Amino acid sequence: MKNASRRQVLQGAIASAIIIGFNPAMRSWVTSASAASEFESLPPLDGILYTDSATRNAAADDFGHLVRRYPSAVLKPGSVEDIVRIVRFARSHKLKVAARGQAHSTYGQPLIEAGIVIDMSSLDTIHTMNAEGAEVDAGVLWSQLLLASLERQLTPPVLTDYIELSVGGTLAVGGIGGRSHRYGVQVDNVLSLQVVTGAGNLETCSRSQNRDLFEAVLAGLGQCGIIVRATVRLIPSAQNSRVFLLFYNDLAALTHDQRWLIAQKRFDYVEGQVVPDASGGWRYMLEAASFYTPPDEPDNSSLLAGLSYTQGTQQIEDKSYFDFANRLAPTVAFLKESGVWFYPHPWLDLFVPATAVDRFVGEIVSDLTLADTGQGPVLLYPVPTDRLRLPLFRVPDEAVVFLFAILRTAPPDASAIAKMLADNRTFFERNRDTGGYRYPIDAVPFSQADWRQHFYPVWGRLVSAKRRYDPDNLLTPSQGIF
Ligand SMILES: Cc1cc2nc3c(=O)[nH]c(=O)nc-3n(C[C@H](O)[C@H](O)[C@H](O)COP(=O)(O)OP(=O)(O)OC[C@H]3O[C@@H](n4cnc5c(N)ncnc54)[C@H](O)[C@@H]3O)c2cc1C
Repeated sequence: MKNASRRQVLQGAIASAIIIGFNPAMRSWVTSASAASEFESLPPLDGILYTDSATRNAAADDFGHLVRRYPSAVLKPGSVEDIVRIVRFARSHKLKVAARGQAHSTYGQPLIEAGIVIDMSSLDTIHTMNAEGAEVDAGVLWSQLLLASLERQLTPPVLTDYIELSVGGTLAVGGIGGRSHRYGVQVDNVLSLQVVTGAGNLETCSRSQNRDLFEAVLAGLGQCGIIVRATVRLIPSAQNSRVFLLFYNDLAALTHDQRWLIAQKRFDYVEGQVVPDASGGWRYMLEAASFYTPPDEPDNSSLLAGLSYTQGTQQIEDKSYFDFANRLAPTVAFLKESGVWFYPHPWLDLFVPATAVDRFVGEIVSDLTLADTGQGPVLLYPVPTDRLRLPLFRVPDEAVVFLFAILRTAPPDASAIAKMLADNRTFFERNRDTGGYRYPIDAVPFSQADWRQHFYPVWGRLVSAKRRYDPDNLLTPSQGIF
């Protein structure tokens, strides 16, 4: 037994009695206490398979709190071999399997009804690190990796806005952030992977080895394999960040400046938001950062030259590199304390073609109210597509695209949630009809026909990878793709 402690073993045993097998006729787990009937023995595990209701309940929900799916068991693996054993066991008994990172999805993506959830958080070791990259378990959090890499003045090139997400969880979807205009998304910064396929094989893959598996798993929404380890790129890190918040009254002026800045690579980090103004309407904020190590310092006047923000509104602040990367921590602590963090989150995340962004976002914002967002942030920032190299990370076919995200918080009220989900669908369709895509971490009702369209023209590749690597369609059913 590697990672599970004696105490965990005891807790598992007390909670559920030890699971010793599966009764295929009854489709139920067999414990040491209920072993009267015929059953297939569970392979020996380094970790624990839980079937108690508290553990299954905890695995039945995600950050969206919009969908509940109740698994029949939850594996807390003690080793990669446990994942191989359980996937093979599940395959032979036609049980579905889904990996769960931090479950920060918003529409049930990591959940599973009556199948096995593999809770990746029990595998969270950073195995090796050097100037090129770090080899980490998929359950490692980006915050954990960042803290360790900063000890060597290194950083992952791209971090998400919130860094308490698992490496496996963001690599399954993409992983975008304010440095994506320079380095692509997180999946573009992976050197190699270890994957347990739906066939139950442990495989290593990279650009030069098993490339079809590598490209089927990165941003592959958990369809072909479970990422168990990743070697992710690291680059030298500066010590500090100078952060600029610049305010605009005009949307087109904001997107113009954002595009100009990313073309010039003037800042290290560029994002933006639609923010409430004092009169109950909206204004626009450009958020940019320049990273530096003293005695070098950024030159504010050349960084700000030629930008058309409303003069006098700028806010400029210096922070350590880590504090900037971890900037959401105080807000999250506040939201947890107030309980709002645990409200439903019918998020909408879209990639909008740059040619359509001003009209598309302008129309939505003209009708948007604080009741529609629940005071959640509305993100708007550009990404050049020549940095994006993974086929399953789907974005519009233009040189620059914008991430437009309404990160809604809903009151616990079914009709308010239903309206937000319906609006999400309407906005998704409107964007799709001008060549836009969805970033599928969000909450948009989606059919299999939608998925085929989402992945076109690489749909055929995904289907053949699925046939090859997950022939019995075991993995991650809640995405609703197959
Ligand atoms: C507050 C907050 C801020 C966020 N900010 C950003 C951001 O700035 N940029 C961004 O890109 N995203 C952002 N996200 C979205 C986030 O990246 C995704 O929801 C991501 O999938 C969450 O990681 P997780 O570990 O919670 O994965 P989970 O939600 O647990 O899993 C996501 C999907 O991947 C599958 N999966 C999980 N682990 C693995 C694995 N090891 N192998 C294969 N499949 C796996 C799951 O089955 C599920 O289908 C944010 C989310 C939240 C809640």
